[in-house]
Amino acid sequence: MKQKQVTVIGSINLDMVTTSDRIPHQGETMMGTGFNTVPGGKGANQAVAAARLGADVTMIGCVGDDPFGKVLIENLQREGVLTDYVEPVTDVPSGVATILVSDGDNRIIVTPGANDYVTPTYVEKYLDVIDQSNIVVLQLEIPLKTIEYVTGYCYRHNIPVILNPAPIQEVPDDVLKQVTYVTPNETEVTSLDVGKEKLIVTEGKQGVRYFQNGKVQHVPGFNVTVEDTTGAGDTFNGALAVYLAENHSLKEAIIFANAAAALSVRKFGAQGGMPSRSEVIELMK
Ligand code: ADP
Repeated sequence: MKQKQVTVIGSINLDMVTTSDRIPHQGETMMGTGFNTVPGGKGANQAVAAARLGADVTMIGCVGDDPFGKVLIENLQREGVLTDYVEPVTDVPSGVATILVSDGDNRIIVTPGANDYVTPTYVEKYLDVIDQSNIVVLQLEIPLKTIEYVTGYCYRHNIPVILNPAPIQEVPDDVLKQVTYVTPNETEVTSLDVGKEKLIVTEGKQGVRYFQNGKVQHVPGFNVTVEDTTGAGDTFNGALAVYLAENHSLKEAIIFANAAAALSVRKFGAQGGMPSRSEVIELMK
């Protein structure tokens, strides 16, 4: 079978994780207990998830013209994601997330940096990539006007689009009308006014709820030992894209994505636990 083409248009970040015994008070300097850099950004995470599951994945995005940008591009390449359309932007920092973790509590600041340069004009240069896609995957960590532009283009050209509406924010009605599927989690779904037949709601360990034939359908979550749920939603979206691109039914694609996401929570880091295709098939048996 020829590999299907999944195009992810979205964010690429470096997550900088500092652990400490407690969160510092205002104005306080204190010693941490550990530090880690982990590649992230919802776009990059979903691209990696889809690549590990066997799709031909192209990423459209921006990094800064800085050392982080190099690390982020190399990481995507190591995962087999095509980065020909990931451009370094001069004089702008790569997107970063500064994450403070102490005792299960965390505080996060995301600075989009180069991700803000993924504009309609930028994407317009690569419409031929979109034209060749079996499916396009979007999230909300790049400018909303780009999301509007891409969904409009794909709608007019009959290219299926998955919109993962995260992080939570209002999405214009025309976007919700034009995308094929919308995949909020339980919190994000509350801010959306979207046709039920497009909705695929992820509900953590409860699994997934979606609508078909006018009825709510439920796919229960797998019982797994949880190490770190970061990136569960990203794995779900990457996997859903792969199976939909391969023309499996919606139900089969959701069952596959639910299994892939369950496997991802067993290991540390968003990308760390993303499974291979054979691991997912094994769990589904
Ligand atoms: P997000 O990470 O975007 O908040 P969810 O928490 O809803 O999204 O998780 C996405 C999907 O990951 C779920 O629908 C489910 O398939 C899987 N998942 C998440 N947490 C667990 C868990 N504890 N056990 C099994 N599957 C899980």
